[in-house]
Amino acid sequence: MEKTISINAGSSTLKFKLFEMPEETVIASGAVDRIGIDGSVFTIKTADGQKKEIKQPIKNHEEAVNLLLNELLSQKIIKSYDEITGVGHRVVAGGEIFKDSALITDKALQQIEDLKEYAPLHNPANAVGIKAFKKVLPNVTSVAVFDTSFHESLPAKNYIYSIPYEYYEKYGVRKYGAHGTSHKFVAGRAAKLMGKPLEELNLITLHLGAGGSITAIKHGESYDTSMGFTPLSGITMATRSGDVDASLVAYLMEKLQVKNPNDFIDILNKKSGLFGISGISPDLRDIEDQKDSNPRAQLAIDIFVNNIVKYIGSYAAELGSIDGIVFTAGIGENSWKMRGRIGRALKLFNVEVDDEINQNGSGARFITKPNSGVPMMVIPTDEELAIAREVEKFKNEK
Ligand code: ADP
Repeated sequence: MEKTISINAGSSTLKFKLFEMPEETVIASGAVDRIGIDGSVFTIKTADGQKKEIKQPIKNHEEAVNLLLNELLSQKIIKSYDEITGVGHRVVAGGEIFKDSALITDKALQQIEDLKEYAPLHNPANAVGIKAFKKVLPNVTSVAVFDTSFHESLPAKNYIYSIPYEYYEKYGVRKYGAHGTSHKFVAGRAAKLMGKPLEELNLITLHLGAGGSITAIKHGESYDTSMGFTPLSGITMATRSGDVDASLVAYLMEKLQVKNPNDFIDILNKKSGLFGISGISPDLRDIEDQKDSNPRAQLAIDIFVNNIVKYIGSYAAELGSIDGIVFTAGIGENSWKMRGRIGRALKLFNVEVDDEINQNGSGARFITKPNSGVPMMVIPTDEELAIAREVEKFKNEK
């Protein structure tokens, strides 16, 4: 029985999903949270719906990996480590080096670490996760799957910034985008739902989670995307600002007496977005709860919607025509209110939301009426499955 584990390592978290491959059956999933912080906790959910929580100090990612693998053995989810024949790691930034998923060699790992400035919140953590698994399972097919790879197809006119060209040549400053694994996965599923080949479709995919990005997909390939050099740009996110005028950085650094530019970037990454505007919470649910009593909650929602609508409008103009709009990730999959607001704001496209299906339906589905100018869909994303499928390709090459 061959199993593949998909790993998404953050600075203090390690999420995992274990699949039976090639059947794509989920055998176990879970996360280690608060690694290296007081209150570390490991949760694991098995295929029969059983959940187990272990609270114990977990000092680092290596300890987290050891605990996870031991637990798989002791719960008899696997009989020996040999059953795990593949590990797939989510890596956010692949720069211009990784145009596709890659087998993790010492060189590749070094390159992932060297790309840390392209995704400062993510790449170092991704690398720590890779090292931890390499140590415990040194001989397993280990693959890095990059958020940026799907955006490899962007034309230069959409990835070159309007700054001196030599900065691109010398320092690699350009748009790389992110969430590519998710955009690609939901686009593929949307094409199936629509009963058409992906290569014939122009889609706009909205990945709206804590981080959010929008991609214009032309004939099945990424053509433009809202995240940029790093995942900071684009739409308003839970705590990230999205697009801002770069001049405000220098101006506010002086006003706030911030000396290190990275400290200011930290404010744009961690204290801005829905949280910064509302002053309530990064979580849209908390903001929704207060929208009738707190004008800043309503303002955060209005800005969020308007930002997305502007991106859809400009991407539709770029694509020339659109065959569908896809909602995915935490907000996209769960907030019928947000989907409804966005749909109603798209009057230009004669979008007709079917309120009943939007609100009460579940899973992958159309949420617009048959006469809608553009169909809108909800497609649950599954980045872990997409990663496991990538690992399979490398196993087959062996
Ligand atoms: P991440 O980017 O961390 O992977 P997710 O895709 O899991 O994020 O999305 C998490 C976000 O989804 C939360 O911050 C929360 O605001 C939002 N969310 C989840 N369920 C709902 C809901 N029912 N209504 C509104 N927002 C929701």
